[in-house]
Amino acid sequence: MQKSILILGACGQIGTELTYALREKYGNENIIASDIREGNEDLMGSGPFEILDATDYDALEEVIAYYEIDVVYLMAAMLSATAEKFPMRAWNLNMNSLFNVLNLGKEKKIEKIFWPSSIAVFGLNTPKSETPQSTIMEPSTVYGISKQSGERWCDYYHHKFGVDVRSVRYPGLISWKTMPGGGTTDYAVEIYHKALAEARYACFLKADTSLPMMFMDDAIRATLEIMHTNAEQVKIRSSYNLSAMSFTPLEMAESIKRQVPHFEISFNPDFRQVIADSWPSSIDDSRAQSDWGWKAEFDLEKTTEVMLRNLKK
Ligand code: NAD
Repeated sequence: MQKSILILGACGQIGTELTYALREKYGNENIIASDIREGNEDLMGSGPFEILDATDYDALEEVIAYYEIDVVYLMAAMLSATAEKFPMRAWNLNMNSLFNVLNLGKEKKIEKIFWPSSIAVFGLNTPKSETPQSTIMEPSTVYGISKQSGERWCDYYHHKFGVDVRSVRYPGLISWKTMPGGGTTDYAVEIYHKALAEARYACFLKADTSLPMMFMDDAIRATLEIMHTNAEQVKIRSSYNLSAMSFTPLEMAESIKRQVPHFEISFNPDFRQVIADSWPSSIDDSRAQSDWGWKAEFDLEKTTEVMLRNLKK
């Protein structure tokens, strides 16, 4: 019998597009989208949808038994900027939801787990350029601490209990279908909306803050690719470095100006600048390339073209 896939946090920036991609691949009825809140009508109407709290183990167990779920994508989390405002809530959500799915794996109630980490696992003492897979981490944000701890627990559950958990360290993600949910790289989405609506944008990071970024289509493809790779090839069970492009807000503005010539950017850094300054400027993802064949397709120019074309619609 066809087993089903459960997405936790399906109404968020990544969860929405992951749900669409998985429904297209496996059929709408086999992909159970869930979130603690309602999402857009298309997402909720195109297949099964459950209101589900990822921190509630009993509720998860019930949904997993009911739909005969064998794979879980855990996308529920509190992101970097919001987590600085609500540290304990962020820690509880980010860690308890992960322990729940890891324990469901340990109890053999599910067979495979995807859980995303982030470039936020790195800190001020990490080499900033071409940050290696294994290096000094020392994250300085609540979010980064939760992601680094999460990585260690994934590795532990894999080696100790044989749990098939897979993970990538997403860079900042750029997408047009759903707005971002309170991260430090949100500017790279807001800027396109403002460029089209007002031809101006006040950026909350400095002009020369270079950060690793990725277009959503690449992020979804990476997620599906690591999940489809043979288990033996997934050699890193903490989380894989993943890279596509790096640019500054000024470079992004210049790329937008080539299509919206009267666009103007100003810079008004806030508390998120400190977070951005603690992160790498570029990432070495050679292990993802050699272990499971990862290669990004979108650069900044292609991203700008696709973002503006779709947002204009
Ligand atoms: P998001 O904030 O857009 O979405 C998170 C979703 O989780 C929201 O829809 C929210 O309602 C839901 N949620 C919150 N609490 C919940 C709970 N208790 N139970 C169930 N659902 C709950 O986040 P996103 O950008 O889609 O990120 C998804 C994952 O990817 C997170 O783990 C995040 O840390 C990671 N990530 C994202 C980025 C990025 O740039 N977006 C970068 C690196 C890592």
